[in-house]
Amino acid sequence: MSDAALTIEHALLAARQAGVDRLDAQLMLCELLGQNRTWLLAHDRDPLAPDTLARFQSWVTRRAQGEPLAYLLGDKEFFGLSLQVNPQVLIPRPDTEILVEWALERLATNPAQDVLDLGTGSGAIALALQHRCPQARVTAVDASAGALQTAEHNARKLGLPVRFRLGSWLQAVQGETFDLIVSNPPYIAEHDPHLQALTHEPISALTSGPDGLDDIRHIVAAARSHLRPSGWLLLEHGYDQAEAVGALLAQAGYAHIETRLDLGGNTRCTGGQTLPRSA
Ligand code: GLN
Repeated sequence: MSDAALTIEHALLAARQAGVDRLDAQLMLCELLGQNRTWLLAHDRDPLAPDTLARFQSWVTRRAQGEPLAYLLGDKEFFGLSLQVNPQVLIPRPDTEILVEWALERLATNPAQDVLDLGTGSGAIALALQHRCPQARVTAVDASAGALQTAEHNARKLGLPVRFRLGSWLQAVQGETFDLIVSNPPYIAEHDPHLQALTHEPISALTSGPDGLDDIRHIVAAARSHLRPSGWLLLEHGYDQAEAVGALLAQAGYAHIETRLDLGGNTRCTGGQTLPRSA
C-alpha cells in the first residue's frame, strides 16, 4: 500500500489491491475511527490521520496474510452479543447458534435448570444461554486459563452471572450434577487439510486425535455421572460425525438421540437424554 492513500476511499482501494475484502476493510476503518459504516460511507473523501493510516495499513497486511478479522477487531458478534475475542479463544461461528437454539428449546418449559458448558472459550454458548434464559444457573468450564479470563471478561462486560471453572472437561465440576450439558469441543481430525485455513486459532480448540473424536468420546462417557435423570447432553461435531457421535451416545446408554442441521444443511449437532428416574 502506498502513502498516497490519504482519504478513506483511497485507503479502501489500496486495501482491495492488497487482496482484502471491501467489507472487512470498512469494518477495520470503522473500528480504528470509532465510527459506524453509515458514517464511513458518507465520509469517503475525508483524509485519514497519519497514525490511523499506519495502523490501518498494518491491519491490511495482517488480514491479507490470513489473520481472522475478529482477532484484528477484537470482537465478534454471537447470538446478538458482542464478545471480546483474541488468539486464546476460538472465534464463535454462526453454526454454533444452532446448539444454543437447541439448548434454549430444552430450557423453554423449565428455565430454572442447572446448565454446564464444556470448553467455553470466549464464553459464547454459556453467555448466550444465560442472556436468553436469566433463570438458568449456568456454569462454564475451560482448561485454558487465558480462555477463561476472556470468558470472565465477557460475562462482566455483559453483566451475566455465569459461574466459571478452570479444568479439563468434567474434572472441573467434580461431584456436581446438571440438567443440561452442552459443548462445542474440538472435533477436527489431527491431519485434516482444513486446518491449514485455521492456523491463527488455538489448536487445542480445534483438533482431537486421529479421527477428531477423542474429546467427544471422553465427554459422552464422563458426562453420564454428571447428568441428572432425564438430563440432556447436546454436542456440536464435524459435518461427517453425526453417525459416530450418535453411536457413542447409544453405547453409553443415552436415549432419544437426535441430530440437528447447521446453516449449510450439514448434520452439526447430536444429543441424547439420560434415562428418567426409575419408579
Ligand atoms: N467448526 C469449526 C471449523 O471447522 C471448528 C470448531 C471446532 O472444532 N469446535 O472451522
